[in-house]
Amino acid sequence: MQRCGTIESVRRMVRDRWGFETFRPLQEQAIEAAVSGRDTVVVIPTGGGKSLCYQAPAAARESGITVVVSPLIALMKDQVDALNARGIASALYNSSLRSDEKRNVIDGLHNGQFKLLYVAPERFPDQNFIDLLHGAGVNSIAIDEAHCISHWGHDFRPDYRKLSALRDIFPDTPIHAFTATATPRVRDDIAAQLKLNAPAFLVGNFDRANLTYRVLWRREMKQRIMTILDRYADKGAGIIYCIRRNDVDELTASLRSNGYDVRPYHAGLSPDIRKANQEAFSSREANIIIATIAFGMGIDRPDIRFVLHTGMPQSIEAYQQETGRAGRDGLPAECVMFHTTADFMTWRAILEKGSSGDDVKIRIAQLEKVLDFCKAPSCRHRLLVEHFGQTYDKESCGACDACLGERDDVPDATVVAQKILSAIVRTGERYGAKYLADVLIGNDTDKVADRGHLNLSVFGLMSEYDTQDIRSWIDQLAAGGHLAVGEEYRTFSVTDTGWTLLRGTSEARLFADDRAKRGAKRERRRRRPVAPDFQDDQSMGTAYAGDGESELDAELYEALRKVRKELADERSVPAYCIFPNKTLEKIAIMKPMDDASLGAVPGIGPKKMEQYGAFMLECVKRFAC
Ligand code: ADP
Ligand code: ZN
Repeated sequence: MQRCGTIESVRRMVRDRWGFETFRPLQEQAIEAAVSGRDTVVVIPTGGGKSLCYQAPAAARESGITVVVSPLIALMKDQVDALNARGIASALYNSSLRSDEKRNVIDGLHNGQFKLLYVAPERFPDQNFIDLLHGAGVNSIAIDEAHCISHWGHDFRPDYRKLSALRDIFPDTPIHAFTATATPRVRDDIAAQLKLNAPAFLVGNFDRANLTYRVLWRREMKQRIMTILDRYADKGAGIIYCIRRNDVDELTASLRSNGYDVRPYHAGLSPDIRKANQEAFSSREANIIIATIAFGMGIDRPDIRFVLHTGMPQSIEAYQQETGRAGRDGLPAECVMFHTTADFMTWRAILEKGSSGDDVKIRIAQLEKVLDFCKAPSCRHRLLVEHFGQTYDKESCGACDACLGERDDVPDATVVAQKILSAIVRTGERYGAKYLADVLIGNDTDKVADRGHLNLSVFGLMSEYDTQDIRSWIDQLAAGGHLAVGEEYRTFSVTDTGWTLLRGTSEARLFADDRAKRGAKRERRRRRPVAPDFQDDQSMGTAYAGDGESELDAELYEALRKVRKELADERSVPAYCIFPNKTLEKIAIMKPMDDASLGAVPGIGPKKMEQYGAFMLECVKRFAC
């Protein structure tokens, strides 16, 4: 083995070359393990500072190179540039190099010029390349995005399997695996696939306390997204993830027509546009990116204030990674996921097209975990942390829709749950949610009659509820572990945890179905004295009440936007040319009723006043009466 630096020399290096005075959690342990030559599996959430864990020891070593395996060529280049800028000679070796560039790297390796060499995983069966590395003297190997080696991970890459050969090629060289997301199963699989030698497992804290999580049923989404964008106007950046490229294009067009400066990013766009949009985002020229999951690797903006999902993410791991890009500066940031059951179908169709049998099964199991996450009647922070095999100590996180009281608690949830569970037991634990709802509501369908369930004591026991309510609670009880779901059909049986509820030794929490709110809200809205033009689809959703912006009349704001859109369309100009959002916001707060007070609104000069003043005033007045 090559001579290693000491922890003190690494610390000095970190201070001198990076300018960091302290280590982040686990960096020190990871560096100590690297210095002592022990294999590691290091799991640190995105943004936690994984690269320092292998770059700093590599820089402090006196001879040999650290080989870094990384999946993305673009990322490698950024890392190598950054290292060289710090005075740490580094290179990359991959298919993007011209032959003269390759020659330079090879010469540099012969001369012992480099501390780090970045390579793609597919390099490894190549004997010439391996000989070259042997010649240069490999002092350690770092594998970035190591979960890609595992079938159980969310981003399996067949090329990563080739890394299994590393241990045989470099039997005495320490190997350090790094990932942002790995369940205990994936962690073990990484260690097994890489044939690690009694590795130290260093697993960071997965709770991102500064993130607020909300999961909402997808309705009036565009309005709700605009509310969020407005809240963060001029205050940092955001990413909006969509499942399909089409969704990205549509949302981009739609938000642009409403005056928002948003940039799209997906694999169907030309490399030039993608690059330009990514760079604009990184350089803060653009603040909002609408993207598929193709976007995000290597994004290092600390001031991302929100990450929105317009559909279900494909796994909890992906969700953790995507939302993990928010709030890296440690300041509050929010993550909102919109979903419907259709997302499951969409993903399934995508997966079935792109993967083989077993793989599809694993992916679908991962999707089901996301469904459970959406429905589970508990704290989102707790669910995420527990998913990654850690325990969550706090009673309430104070930063999710459940703990903030934004999901409506069902009164007497334990009694409701007991009724449902006893219906399941009484009917023999072999039916699906629709049938159970029929029994509990008291629908005397042919099936219920044929099976003799009209006479059960549970028949009609919950006649005050509708099917949707009961189905939602059954899903919640399943997501909360009280019910087990059949292998073949979605039938339900009671688990041990469920029995503690039935016996009254534990308590249940259930939430009103998010979808059910729609009816109630419509009802409320209909009663408001609003001009007929504005009755349709103007609701802003109630999720954000109490966010400190109560002076802004959200419905008036929406009405003003609609007027602005008509004005813009008539004149064939972008909406922000009529008025920027900020001005509309001010009008919705100040509610001017005459020319003088409208003229006093910041952003309304004499010209705008003359052109559009009357339309704005009319809108405000219509709203006030
Ligand atoms: P990861 O690979 O885990 O997503 P990075 O290695 O890209 O994270 O680091 C994320 C950010 O944190 C970078 O901007 C990096 O400079 C910064 N960082 C890493 N370690 C420290 C530290 N000890 N002190 C301050 N900033 C750090
Ligand atoms: Zn919570």
